[in-house]
Amino acid sequence: MRFIADFMLGKLARMLRLLGQDVIYVKPADRNGMLKMALEEGRVILTRSHKLPHHPSIFIIKSQDWREQLEEVKKAFPLDINPFTRCSICNTKLVEVPKPEVRGKVPYHVYEAHDEFAYCPGCGRYYWKGTHYENIKKMLGIEDANNRTPNN
Ligand SMILES: [Zn+2]
Repeated sequence: MRFIADFMLGKLARMLRLLGQDVIYVKPADRNGMLKMALEEGRVILTRSHKLPHHPSIFIIKSQDWREQLEEVKKAFPLDINPFTRCSICNTKLVEVPKPEVRGKVPYHVYEAHDEFAYCPGCGRYYWKGTHYENIKKMLGIEDANNRTPNN
């Protein structure tokens, strides 16, 4: 599944990315451009707006709470859940990097405490399964995925 989230759904967009979903976040709302992109790229538009035309590519999110929004999306679409394979900031697929390569690029205590690292070629961020990872996992109610290899 590929999505476009409108400007009111930033948190939902980041959470879906953490689950491995391809989500483009559009701001400010360019409704015509959004629909054009959805059709061209085969994306579903997630929006809280009722101003958009009725269209099979448009899914209206009802809740204002991102947890409930996530449930709405999970119920409506067959998501291929693949946690921590995509950058939550820029939507780029993460690349696994061997531990020695991140030496000096992440804080020393992080380097010492972790063995698995991933890199975002889009924005240059490094990811590891730290406290943030554990918290998000808990929030999203997901099991630890042993296989974090991006499936291109
Ligand atoms: Zn990134």
